[in-house]
Amino acid sequence: MMPENCLFCKIVRGEIPAVKLYEDDEVVAFRDIAPQAPLHVLVIPKKHLEGPAAVAVEDEQVVGRMMRVGNEIAVREGFPQYRTVCNNGAQAGQTVFHLHMHIIGGRSMNWPPG
Ligand code: 5GP
Ligand code: ZN
Repeated sequence: MMPENCLFCKIVRGEIPAVKLYEDDEVVAFRDIAPQAPLHVLVIPKKHLEGPAAVAVEDEQVVGRMMRVGNEIAVREGFPQYRTVCNNGAQAGQTVFHLHMHIIGGRSMNWPPG
């Protein structure tokens, strides 16, 4: 998947609408189009990385920022207890091949996840 055709790169560039909750020079956060809980936000790097396995040493800082930003949004939205999910590969449930962290909250969670 090249960045020109990537769904989340298009959201970063504003070519596809999204309900953006946060944006800075490195990350964007927006509401998931099919929320699985009262809070369901996706936090992504602006840089196109296919998923967790594509994170190189030079990308480590932005992954930390994704977690900090996700927490700030969850707290601001009134859901300080939440689950983060980063799917890596189709078998794990990844359907969009641009790294994203799900922030899911507002209901009880099962463990282990399905
Ligand atoms: P994955 O299954 O790859 O971990 O998660 C991809 C997520 O992206 C899914 O939860 C799905 O609902 C969400 N999604 C897919 N297409 C769009 C879209 O066009 N806009 C938004 N906001 N979310 C999307
Ligand atoms: Zn992308």
